[in-house]
Amino acid sequence: MSSPTSSSPSQQHIMGVYNRAPLAFERGRGARLFSTDGEEYLDCVAGIATDGLGHAHPALVEALKTQGEKLWHVSNIYRIPEQEALADKLCANTFADVAFFTNSGTEAIECALKAARRYHVVDGHAERVDIVGFEGSFHGRSYAAVNASGNPGYLDGFGPRLPGYSQLPFGDLAALKAAINETTAAVIIEPVQGEGGARALTEAQLDELRAMTREAGVLLIYDEVQCGMGRTGKLFAYEWAGDAAPDIMCVAKALGGGFPVGACLATTEAAKGMTVGVHGSTYGGNPLAMAVGQAAFDAINTPEILDNVKQVAGYFTQQLNGLKDRFPDVIVDIRGKGLLIGVKLIPNNREFMVLARDQKLLVAGGGDNCVRLLPPLNLTIAEASEAIAKFEKACEAARAKAAA
Ligand SMILES: *Cc1c(COP(=O)(O)O)cnc(C)c1O
Repeated sequence: MSSPTSSSPSQQHIMGVYNRAPLAFERGRGARLFSTDGEEYLDCVAGIATDGLGHAHPALVEALKTQGEKLWHVSNIYRIPEQEALADKLCANTFADVAFFTNSGTEAIECALKAARRYHVVDGHAERVDIVGFEGSFHGRSYAAVNASGNPGYLDGFGPRLPGYSQLPFGDLAALKAAINETTAAVIIEPVQGEGGARALTEAQLDELRAMTREAGVLLIYDEVQCGMGRTGKLFAYEWAGDAAPDIMCVAKALGGGFPVGACLATTEAAKGMTVGVHGSTYGGNPLAMAVGQAAFDAINTPEILDNVKQVAGYFTQQLNGLKDRFPDVIVDIRGKGLLIGVKLIPNNREFMVLARDQKLLVAGGGDNCVRLLPPLNLTIAEASEAIAKFEKACEAARAKAAA
């Protein structure tokens, strides 16, 4: 209750669930972040893949300002034209027929899991309740999301696990085939794992997963919260495969370009249990979020951005593999897809992030001792080359540290 009389803010009254870097920013522009102590950083975190167009993108700033002066929030008891427009865009460009808007990825996951169970109820198979997920996945922090991902670190100490959730080794389709039975409702998977260390399913695996779930009458849910919205060089990662469209898909992060927006997309069939009154959200799909979301969607869903992602990703992969050859004592693997890049390290990834920060390069952590590079999708080759030069210096520092 007591607070210091000092005027400078402290973390004293912040719930201690984050181990924060001793660093704060006051403004950003594109892939640049400027700290409160006057330093400039190259941002390959981009708000953990949310700021798909970098910081302060003019089209997004304009959309926010314009809508901000008109109308922020009314409630879903009225029609919201901005929401209908973004739903139209998403459905015109994906497998989906309908969208439910949320404020976060986790809420999109909640909607997907509820939709899957409701589907089977109205389909006459109320016994189908089980949700099969994969190890190393991350679906968010709500009770359902942590149960769907099964990460013990996020489950321990929160009482009994919810029934009806299990996990298999990532990409183990033989295990999936054996696990699917007459009580299975849905399979949930990230086509490219984000927090789990940037592990990608192959295109063949995606096709096989789709065929297997379709045949078993089980819904397929993709969590494209991190790998979607252009991150892999396609609007959505599942598009890399031939015939792998899901029944339900969760989107968030770059959907709002840094503004909190999420969506659960579904086919009409998969959403048939989601009838009036069964689900809702106070803020989800509000005019302000939808205006920014539309601007972000229009700016990301262009050949220029998607081609840029492929080109810059190709450059990163080539350069990082070069660094891996030169620093086998530091880097053991380069993985991921597009601009969702994982670099698996020998030195501790958290310590490496500090060494990168010393070079004014921001990278994200990840599972399996990876650091992730998740730069804005409009990063230039010149900026990517600057990131590589800084990454190389961090590798040198890591080597020197190990020798000391
Ligand atoms: C970030 C993330 C989530 C959770 O999104 P929030 O907006 O933090 O609730 C879910 N799934 C994946 C794959 C994510 O990367």
